[in-house]
Amino acid sequence: MKIAVLASSSRGNATVVNAGKTTLLVDVGISARRIKLGLESCGLGLEDICGICITHEHSDHIGGLAVLSGKTRVRVYCSRYLRDDLVSLAPDANYTFLEPGTKVRIGDFSVLPISVSHDAVDPLGYVFEADGVRLGYITDTGCITRTMFPALQGVQALYLESNYDPELLCKSGRPPELISRIEGQWGHLSNEQAGEFVRQIAHSDLRHIILAHLSPECNTPARAAVTIQAVLDELHHSAELHIARQTELLPWMQV
Ligand SMILES: [Zn+2]
Ligand SMILES: [Zn+2]
Repeated sequence: MKIAVLASSSRGNATVVNAGKTTLLVDVGISARRIKLGLESCGLGLEDICGICITHEHSDHIGGLAVLSGKTRVRVYCSRYLRDDLVSLAPDANYTFLEPGTKVRIGDFSVLPISVSHDAVDPLGYVFEADGVRLGYITDTGCITRTMFPALQGVQALYLESNYDPELLCKSGRPPELISRIEGQWGHLSNEQAGEFVRQIAHSDLRHIILAHLSPECNTPARAAVTIQAVLDELHHSAELHIARQTELLPWMQV
């Protein structure tokens, strides 16, 4: 299995995962044009995409869906509660509706949707599995819930939101209600929360951690990396740490 991140931050998210003959996009929160260019950098075209897995309906996750689905008529996988929102936005797509906790087979992938804690309609994380390798995909969640642990136990790679640094969030000049929303249990994970989750989920075969959805205003790649690396150092853990960025491709990584 391999993963590349086309873009990730509060301004737009899109990831591509591949196993065997199956290539999936996870979220399409950047323009269809940028997705096409990003795929070309990965040696792919839109015609190679077998499906799009949506985490939730916020625009930084679905902003490119209408144009993209019009171009490709690709199958879209999402929570069944998103039906009305997405069908009106992208009527040309073919939809498969998912239930958290129920695995689906998509080509060479087994895909497990899992519930996350975010102020959206039934938001999902995912565990992608192929050839005995598993990738956990957790973004846009205000907290780590108990149900995530069994689903993510033993993953070889983890794509994990590390959205904000509390000090930078406080100093950001944002309205207090927005700060409360971000910090709240239906908001986003701080660097410290992401680090704490890594501490709890780390095991000897965890090889890659991709920190994602960094806020451009309330975080820096250096702050996120230092916080999570400190946890890995404490654990004497050698997992490779990667930072997904908004404007730079994170190229193919073999999981
Ligand atoms: Zn988001
Ligand atoms: Zn969101």
